[in-house]
Amino acid sequence: MDLTEQVLKKKGLRSDALWTHPLIFTTPLRRIPLFFDVRSLLLSQYWPRTRLNRLANDRLDTLLQEAKLLPLWQKQLQTYEREKGDPVDQLQLLPISSKSTYAGREDSEFTSVDELKRSHQDFTSGSTGRPFGYYFGWRSELRCFAFCERTFYAVGHGLRHDVISMRARHRIGFIFYRHVMFYLAASADIQYRLAELLATLRVRTHPVILYGYTSWIVELAKQVRKGVSVPSVFALVATGEGIGARDRQMIEDVFQAPFYTTYATRELGWLGFECEKKRMHVNEEWAYLEIVDAQGRRLPDGQEGRIVVTTFDNTVMPFIRYDIGDRGSIDVDACSCGRTLRTITFSGRQSDVIDLGDGHTLSLLDISPLFDAYWDAVHQYQIVQTAPLDFTLRIIPGPSFNDRREALQNRIRRSLHPNARLQWETVDRIEPAKSGKALYYIKAF
Ligand SMILES: [Zn+2]
Repeated sequence: MDLTEQVLKKKGLRSDALWTHPLIFTTPLRRIPLFFDVRSLLLSQYWPRTRLNRLANDRLDTLLQEAKLLPLWQKQLQTYEREKGDPVDQLQLLPISSKSTYAGREDSEFTSVDELKRSHQDFTSGSTGRPFGYYFGWRSELRCFAFCERTFYAVGHGLRHDVISMRARHRIGFIFYRHVMFYLAASADIQYRLAELLATLRVRTHPVILYGYTSWIVELAKQVRKGVSVPSVFALVATGEGIGARDRQMIEDVFQAPFYTTYATRELGWLGFECEKKRMHVNEEWAYLEIVDAQGRRLPDGQEGRIVVTTFDNTVMPFIRYDIGDRGSIDVDACSCGRTLRTITFSGRQSDVIDLGDGHTLSLLDISPLFDAYWDAVHQYQIVQTAPLDFTLRIIPGPSFNDRREALQNRIRRSLHPNARLQWETVDRIEPAKSGKALYYIKAF
């Protein structure tokens, strides 16, 4: 086992027991393992597939052995043994989990009591609006920093750039010494603090990477497009929501810089990053990602289904075959950037699929370009579905709203359903989700 592998498997001098000791973890000394983690991840992304697969099996085995000690997983993992075959194959025998797997249970059923002292408790609401409490261990946090670094190295073309993060609150897993935080409550605040934000970008001597929720960067680009001079940025990076091709193009045109997305959730950490070829690579040293059908059976590469995730490092509260609420497929062909990490293509977030009844569904990504084309008529929107074919279009109107309303309404109806009933509600402000993320769609029945 060479040093890279030792580091990735947290063996020897990279042991978590050592580096998550409070006397080390809470001091700048934790930059030592971070340094080695980052070096290792920059190498392993180019490893041969067989070596990456072996690593995934070893890391998964370590996780399952730890999970086996917890009441929630004990029974399900009863028959699990490394000797019986590859852990990734045995994983398929386990049921799919979700937030509801943990709901109504005592923490002691699904958390490692010993490790609780070395973890953070946090909550996520997501698009469901219901808060979900979870624990994120220091073991995870330490490693998470390194994945954050790798993401920004990739979009920075192998160089280190300063990052300005537009955020609603701070987040576990960020390298704070390299990120300048620009706090905002919601995307609607961007218009009021635009000058301040642009000034923050202009004072930097080298072009920075600008990072934020997808909806925030879209909003920022729309504001800048109105005629403000654009500071030079190296790249823009977004997380949190899907984005349509038009919005992508609009952002790149406005800033004259490449735009990338990352795949991350609060409870699961950094799951993937886009490379310079704009393909989403899975952080396979961090998580095992599967595509499954409605019954939870694993689908072959290339087939579309639900994305379920097992993360390796969060032993305080294991997430095993966790349904993240997104859909997509694992790509069959390798990426031309040279990285061997698998890539995925999203087909929409489950929460953003509008169900029109009778088996008809529509992705929000089909509707959002319509609003983009009418950006001077609608500054911000939220679609509230009150019955299968009844929609309230809650909007912050723009100057040409009254003139273009009819035309936009016809186009939306045509995309949704010929019998859809639409009504408009103009407001001054649209409340985001608790996380600060914009809510484009709410199912209210
Ligand atoms: Zn690539």
